[in-house]
Amino acid sequence: MEVRKKLGFGLMRLPRTDGKIDIEKSKVLADMFLSNGYTYFDTAYAYAGSEEAFREFVVERYPRDSYTVASKMAGWSLRDDFGPADMFNTSLQRAGLEYFDYYLLHSLQPSRVGFYDKYNCWEFCGQMKAEGKIRKLGFSYHGAPDLLEELLQTHPEVDFVQLQINYIDWDNEVIWSGENYRICEKYGKDVTVMEPIKGGMLANIAPEYAEIYAKIDPEDTPAAIALRFVGSLPNVKVVLSGMNEPEQMIENMKVFDNFKPLTDEERAAVKVVTEKILSVPMIPCTACRYCTKGCPMGINIPEIFKAYNMYLTFGDHNRPHLYYDGLLATTSNKASACIQCGQCEAACPQHIEIIDKLKDCSAYLDKE
Ligand code: SF4
Ligand code: SF4
Repeated sequence: MEVRKKLGFGLMRLPRTDGKIDIEKSKVLADMFLSNGYTYFDTAYAYAGSEEAFREFVVERYPRDSYTVASKMAGWSLRDDFGPADMFNTSLQRAGLEYFDYYLLHSLQPSRVGFYDKYNCWEFCGQMKAEGKIRKLGFSYHGAPDLLEELLQTHPEVDFVQLQINYIDWDNEVIWSGENYRICEKYGKDVTVMEPIKGGMLANIAPEYAEIYAKIDPEDTPAAIALRFVGSLPNVKVVLSGMNEPEQMIENMKVFDNFKPLTDEERAAVKVVTEKILSVPMIPCTACRYCTKGCPMGINIPEIFKAYNMYLTFGDHNRPHLYYDGLLATTSNKASACIQCGQCEAACPQHIEIIDKLKDCSAYLDKE
């Protein structure tokens, strides 16, 4: 991947006014981004309205060689009568483009790999690459290292992988930032990074932790350190940020205009802050899901624990609530719906006192 400056503009959460994507504000952001020498935009079939908006605020206003754009195939939305060619052509049409510079199979993980095999998406993308409609092929990944390695062995045609990488998840055995990065390195794959500041959480660490960075250099804001951590990794070619305010873009561009890799002293500070943040006791749930099958109330126990662990780690912040609201809208009943039947506790290999822990979760997450 030849990207002059590593900051990429993620278009998943574009600014909205009255529920609609704000095209005028998006134009301002795109103009700032492009006029400062940045080029990489990241959209997807699954980001509602994003590809169409991109057409309006970039494609119809700039020459094709002044930007690059990535889009993604949503395997879980394919059907027998709406295959990969239909989805790919829909994306091109929505964006008003003849080709994508980068195209990804979206969100590969154990539960989704099958969709891409079932509809022969790999073969289709290979064909589009041969025809020049896809310049570089990749996939975004949310699973464990063993599946990533298997995918890269099976699909040597892949040019790059999009991974969730940030310093707090580097050794985490659910997110696997470090191990997944090392596998891409081993297979010589370029990496684009999503969630470099963990949905904003690493920009909002406790003041005493921020002070550890600021003592080294007052320019070392927590957000800048988090971005520089991922930007310092040699195989990382793009660091995505979902920017929806000019101030945020200015702050991010300050980091990437004259990019400085982390110094040894800053790396040591990151290690200290990581240890401090992770030393807060959390619910030791491994997300094995043995507890969920028999829950008569449809409570997504491990995911609710994940939301509550975000709170324990980072303090009162809108991220745990956003995550919890997303669960309630899709896969879970409220934590307070527990009827204390006890089946989950009998199934839990970690011997977690789930009923009591759900009460703690409810006290925080269900409060108005
Ligand atoms: S104790 Fe509560 S969470 Fe556990 S299975 Fe019963 S209803 Fe579900
Ligand atoms: S069984 Fe225990 S460790 Fe496994 S997901 Fe449920 S709470 Fe977490």
